[in-house]
Amino acid sequence: MDVMRGNEMGKVIAAYCVSCILFFLSLLIDARANDKIDFSQMDNEINLHPWLSYQKLIGLQDAAESYDEVQYLWWLVRKAQAENLVYFYDDFNQTIKLAVSLVNDETPLTIQAKINVYQGIIHQRQGNYSLSEEVLAKALLQANEAKLSHLYVYGKQELAYTKTLTELFETSLVDIQEAYVEAFALKDQFLIASINETYGAIYGYLNDYEKSIEYYQRALEVYTYLEYPAHIAEAIYGLASTYRYWKKFDSAIEYFQLYQEKISYTPNSNISFFSAYGLGMTYAEKGDCELAIVTIDKALALDGLVDYNAELYKRKANCFIALGQLDNAEQALFNAAAEFSKVPEIMGTAWQLEVIKISGELAHARGDYNLGYKMLEQYYRKYTQLLLKNSSERLIKVRAGLEVERQQITQALEKKRSQVELLELEKRKSISTQQIYFNIFIICMVLVVLAVIVVQYRNNKKMHRLTIRDPLSGLFNRRYIFENLNKIISSSNLAKVELAVVLIDIDNFKKVNDKFGHPVGDEVICQVANIGKQVFREGDAFARIGGEEFLCILPRTNIAEAEKVAQRFLTIINNAKMISGSDDTVTVSIGIAELTEQCQDAKQLYIDADTALYQAKHLGKNQISAFTESD
Ligand code: GH3
Ligand code: MG
Ligand code: MG
Repeated sequence: MDVMRGNEMGKVIAAYCVSCILFFLSLLIDARANDKIDFSQMDNEINLHPWLSYQKLIGLQDAAESYDEVQYLWWLVRKAQAENLVYFYDDFNQTIKLAVSLVNDETPLTIQAKINVYQGIIHQRQGNYSLSEEVLAKALLQANEAKLSHLYVYGKQELAYTKTLTELFETSLVDIQEAYVEAFALKDQFLIASINETYGAIYGYLNDYEKSIEYYQRALEVYTYLEYPAHIAEAIYGLASTYRYWKKFDSAIEYFQLYQEKISYTPNSNISFFSAYGLGMTYAEKGDCELAIVTIDKALALDGLVDYNAELYKRKANCFIALGQLDNAEQALFNAAAEFSKVPEIMGTAWQLEVIKISGELAHARGDYNLGYKMLEQYYRKYTQLLLKNSSERLIKVRAGLEVERQQITQALEKKRSQVELLELEKRKSISTQQIYFNIFIICMVLVVLAVIVVQYRNNKKMHRLTIRDPLSGLFNRRYIFENLNKIISSSNLAKVELAVVLIDIDNFKKVNDKFGHPVGDEVICQVANIGKQVFREGDAFARIGGEEFLCILPRTNIAEAEKVAQRFLTIINNAKMISGSDDTVTVSIGIAELTEQCQDAKQLYIDADTALYQAKHLGKNQISAFTESD
């Protein structure tokens, strides 16, 4: 790179000064218009300038007293965020404690969820992992309810990290994977970087160092791009730690030193604990014991975390053993055990068990081989049990996971099946409904056809009646009676059969009409017809063959028998009162004829009867005349 010339350097410094002045001016303006500050929008600002934001928020302390409850809580949340980033852990804890005490049912869910995430982080740092998980789970529920997807994903990755610390690697990997998918969907670079950082930590604990480095590098890249100093330092710390576990001590030392540089964004000296811790541990593991002990003491002098202190004491003990300072080693081991006892959750973990191992090594160094052997034996037994427990616990978790998956699949299948059944039921229903409709349709069609047939039949019958009957008298008509006569004669054995016809004509009918009118004449025709219906037998065929002229076929009847029937008819006519309101009588003349050897057809038979009728008329009417061959 070219060396900057003097005037360019001057410009850069001037620009830097101007931007600083502007920034402080903006702080002043903000402070004056503090009631206008929207704390909910301060997230990025705090991440960018944790120390300045912290100062700004502290500067608002007095004004904050007059805020309404919600704004005051927002102020507390932001103060906590800044305190966390500048490593004022005690203040951070106090702020969250205060915030928790102020939360009530009316507090917006966003604030509640944020406070719970911070509370979860606090528990996590204090080694209260189960409490941490509980509070984070609550935060997730709240974030979910309030549809705060970013906060939800952030809380989830924090939960995954807590689970990693209690060695629940499988579930934490599932959680972090889900968080990653959601962060990716949200296209939030910061969230993705946070998740990559957690991935780095999880893979580190799983001893997959290459992957751990890869994820930390990805996180670092984004944090660098976003210019978030606290996060940059954190990712570098992760890289340093992974190199340490990987036993790439030189890289670890390099990154721990880089970390020391990067934490200069905050003047808080407590933060140096972590670099001192990392460096001290690395020197010890590298075997650089003198440097290690000095660095470890420096770290222990700072306000560090309990479990970290325990680790430092262990390494210190290792180093003292290596240096032959066995009493110091014993003291360091005692301190380590005391630190571990403060955190019940990590009792029985590999970290805590290592105290026994180092104690064994110390006994060995003291020449107490028997005790040394016993302690080492105890350590390996417990460590093996731990591994077995972990693997069986994992197995149980895997089984439980598979069981849940199986249940979900079964449920999904059952849901599908019931849907199919429902569809089939509906299909069957619709088919049966269709069937019913079809049947109704068919029945209707049959009924319609039947009705048509009945109507048709009736019409036909009516038509037939009309074609064979005389409408006035209801007797057969002329056409029918002659067809019938022809049929009977042609189907009969004429040698054996007897058949007579009776031809009736009302006498002087013209006069009836003239005197009483046509309707009375019609009435007379009907009365004559009715008398005929009474007199003639069922098998006889009686017809009106003209105006006032009737013909009756008498099968199986000879002319003498026919004459008797005709006589009865004539007598009844004579006794009947036909015209109402008048004493006028109505008479008829009757001509009879029968089938004979000479008369073998219908036409002849009629002619013969007509001849006889003419004779009856000629002889004075109101009488019967039977046809004889001589006529
Ligand atoms: P005779 O004694 O010689 O038979 O004399 P008649 O008057 O009965 O005979 P004619 O043949 O001269 O007259 C028949 C009359 O019957 C003529 C016609 O007006 C009447 N007539 C024919 N058909 C009907 C009918 O349907 N109703 C009525 N009221 N009169 C009819
Ligand atoms: Mg006549
Ligand atoms: Mg007449």
